[in-house]
Amino acid sequence: MGETPKHGNRRLHPSTSAAQALGWIDEQTKAVVSPIHLSTTYIRDPDNQYRSGRVYARADNPSFDQAEALLTELEGGVHSILLASGMAAASAVFLALRPGDHVVAPKVMYWALRRWLTTFATDWGLQVELVDTSDTDAVRAAVRAGETKLVWLETPANPTWIVSDLAAIAEIAHKAGARLAVDSTCASPVLTRPIEFGVDVVMHAATKYLNGHSDVVAGTLTTARRDDFWERIVANRSGVGGILGSFESYLLLRGMRTLYLRVDRACRSAQAIAEHFQGHPKIRAVLYPGLATHPGHAVAARQMTGGFGGMLSLCIAGGEAAAISAAAKVDLWKRATSLGGVESLIEHRASVEGAGTPAPADLLRLSVGIEEPSDLIADLEQALEAP
Ligand SMILES: *Cc1c(COP(=O)(O)O)cnc(C)c1O
Repeated sequence: MGETPKHGNRRLHPSTSAAQALGWIDEQTKAVVSPIHLSTTYIRDPDNQYRSGRVYARADNPSFDQAEALLTELEGGVHSILLASGMAAASAVFLALRPGDHVVAPKVMYWALRRWLTTFATDWGLQVELVDTSDTDAVRAAVRAGETKLVWLETPANPTWIVSDLAAIAEIAHKAGARLAVDSTCASPVLTRPIEFGVDVVMHAATKYLNGHSDVVAGTLTTARRDDFWERIVANRSGVGGILGSFESYLLLRGMRTLYLRVDRACRSAQAIAEHFQGHPKIRAVLYPGLATHPGHAVAARQMTGGFGGMLSLCIAGGEAAAISAAAKVDLWKRATSLGGVESLIEHRASVEGAGTPAPADLLRLSVGIEEPSDLIADLEQALEAP
């Protein structure tokens, strides 16, 4: 395994830890990039012990170690695990609860998780209550002391980027004896370290910013403490078998090394695009927490550092047809779902989410990449102006 160089008592900035992937050097070869371990099984010692601590790759894999350790450092947690997808990570938290447990989750959140919660998780026995989590009083009213076991948040939340107050909701959850978990995919550890605000478990769709290159599906969980609940989640990763592959783990770590540069660029460009289109005659509304007019701006300014994220939405003045038509006319922006990659993506969100979506019909969701922002603005301008 790797060795982590010492830097005396000086605590490194997370961006330094990320750039060097914790500075691990392969012990045997002195390589600065760790190998990809493909073995599914490990040798048992002649006296019938497993001193290496490893038995079988569904339980653990040395290819996970560096990415897990780096993420733990970036989040300021104590342990992280990689899973097969963001959905595998999110569902692992809910499946560590018991049938009958009451859960409070947002009305506005990543649509596939909302659908899973209101179908599968409900059939499985969880009592799922969806509330407007940007309204802290609504969360307080929904949480039942001794009965609610988990509060789930996503902030900023897809696709209107409403913001939930992590510190205030952590206090409400903990007072009631519940845990707080957050889908922090869109903030990334660059902008928000939820554990510092009292969050117990942080989830990422690592498919998005952590990997950043639209070529890996992965999920992660990081915990603030190693308690029974966490050990149940870890044991169930092996039990259900939703592990990441070795090659994907390597790609994810490679992507995480440039996380800070990518997120910084995406935030600056998203802010510039939001400011450019606010008040534009073809735009009904710009939804971005970095705008002072956004209802979540004050909370976002408190719990996001260095920017307000690379995600924003434009509501098009002409309504749904005009929105779909503008998305059809972009050239540089890629018309595709997903987010957090180096290339900018645009999507008519209601078309993806279908019936029952809280996404306004005139909303285009933008994932800002790392291109030159003036090129991105010019392409949107021509798409809005084109006949
Ligand atoms: C993409 C996404 C997910 C799901 O992640 P997958 O890797 O696609 O399973 C969950 N939450 C958010 C906010 C996402 O953007």
